[in-house]
Amino acid sequence: MNHVSSAILNRIRLCLLGYSILLLGSYGAVVFWLHYGRNGGYGLTPFLAGFIAIQLIYEILAQFVFVKQSPLVRACITLVGVWAQTLMIMEATGVYKSPMMAIVIGLVFLAGAMGLYLATGMVTMLCVGFLLGLGGFFATPTDAPFGVALIIVSSTLVFLGQLFWRKYYIDKDVATDTLSSSLSKEQAKSDIILNAIEDGVILVDTNQIIRLFNPGASAITGWPAEEAVGLDHHAVLHLIDEKNVDYPASQNPFNRVFADHKSVRDSQAVLVSRSNKHISLNLSVSPLIGSTGAISGAVCVFRDVSQERSEEKRRAEFISTASHEMRTPVAAIEGYLALALNPRVSTVDTKARQFLEKAHSSTQHLGKLFQDLLTSAKAEDGRLSSHPTALEMGEFTEQLVGDLKFSADKKGLRIEFVTGTGNEVIDASNDSAGSSKVIKPLYYVFADPERLREVLINLFDNAVKYTDTGTISVGLTGDEKVVQIYVHDTGPGIPPEDASHLFQKFYRVDNSATRTIGGTGLGLFICRKIIELYNGRIWVESEVGKGSTFFIDLPRIDSKKAAEFAAAETAQGNPTKL
Ligand code: ADP
Repeated sequence: MNHVSSAILNRIRLCLLGYSILLLGSYGAVVFWLHYGRNGGYGLTPFLAGFIAIQLIYEILAQFVFVKQSPLVRACITLVGVWAQTLMIMEATGVYKSPMMAIVIGLVFLAGAMGLYLATGMVTMLCVGFLLGLGGFFATPTDAPFGVALIIVSSTLVFLGQLFWRKYYIDKDVATDTLSSSLSKEQAKSDIILNAIEDGVILVDTNQIIRLFNPGASAITGWPAEEAVGLDHHAVLHLIDEKNVDYPASQNPFNRVFADHKSVRDSQAVLVSRSNKHISLNLSVSPLIGSTGAISGAVCVFRDVSQERSEEKRRAEFISTASHEMRTPVAAIEGYLALALNPRVSTVDTKARQFLEKAHSSTQHLGKLFQDLLTSAKAEDGRLSSHPTALEMGEFTEQLVGDLKFSADKKGLRIEFVTGTGNEVIDASNDSAGSSKVIKPLYYVFADPERLREVLINLFDNAVKYTDTGTISVGLTGDEKVVQIYVHDTGPGIPPEDASHLFQKFYRVDNSATRTIGGTGLGLFICRKIIELYNGRIWVESEVGKGSTFFIDLPRIDSKKAAEFAAAETAQGNPTKL
């Protein structure tokens, strides 16, 4: 059975109630007139008044007590009640000749809104009444033509009603589904979602004041929503890093979003809850940009990942212990194999030498795998040692390329070092004679040279490993804010679907060009972890068949800051060469 939406049903109910109240008012007026000796009646009897009063009591109960009653049932009861009232007046005011006949017919039409069954039921009742009427129960047989007219007109209206109302009909299943009906309003929709999800959701305005705080956020932070809303988010979302150091203002994800108008993700943050518990969080903050393009606030979605992180830590600990323990015997095997292969130490025949060479290279591969496993486990749980200093990337990279040249030469690959192809700011200084001399730009970063060496060697080794012919270019460029280093090769390239996964652990591209080349799939993961340590970014741009370029962006520091870092290190007895 179909019917119109709850909203329309409620509107119809309201109109019917208005009509009932009008009848009640009319009854009052008639009583008043009678009291003053005027003629009255019109079927407005005390019985009718009592009936209407009972109906009104039901309506009040339906509104405030039977709140779960479906709007359809409520509207049907109201309509039938009002219809009964109208029939009573019709009966007292001339039955079929009564002007109330129009309302009786009108209500049949209205019943169409509640479905075909109700309207048909009402017409059936009219027919039964008419038959009884013919027997002289209600009226005289002379009224018969009017009765027939009533039945014909109201039956027709059942069909016309169907035609009229069907366009407003909604699916019954949807209408009766309380969830769907409550979802009909946007507000209700978002409230339901926000209250149901386990993740914390916080909305902050441009004054950094919390405007929305869902139950998930309360459960994680320990702050009830009533108290958190209206407070500065720093007070509620107190973030520290893994070393228990408060996030500096510039690192706070909300501040970064308000400064850059870009979404920020943070998977390392630790929250200090209201009860001083430390909870590992995975959070993302996104700006709310209005139609004018101005930022109007920020939304933070976060979840408690303490359990995942402790499991990860346990796993990393196991891998790091296991690989550490296994490295020692592997190093011993490798050493003995090297001795066996050394003609000055031992004599082996050609066949045995071939076997030993294979064993030696496999052992070297195994040693590299254990080393990479150890490094990646350390990188994951933040134990990767790092001694950052102010480092001038120009000299550093040039020197490194010089050292690496040998491996490229061995494979017949050309190698080049390119500097300053970007919109670099020339770090020029006036010489004593006052003439302005443009010197090579100085690209300073604050990072551990050993760690950066590891990254660049890895990228360079990959370029050599996966390229058969052509050139490997190592470039250095940048602007005021970043220093960019890239390693470009003319190798097989990387399919786009693999490029986004390349920096994950153990990911290796499975294609004929690279499958046969040995590797662990850990190198680029370690590179990413190291670059992230210095707030940098690493990514690849590649075209299959043409080659790949691996880019690294690192925050640039100016010469003044670099000199300050160098001075600080000298003061600590650990001078840095700038
Ligand atoms: P590995 O080289 O030890 O397998 P990496 O993490 O260094 O591990 O690299 C992951 C995968 O990325 C490699 O297996 C290879 O398929 C692909 N790859 C890396 N560098 C290049 C490159 N320069 N050209 C083509 N493919 C590359």
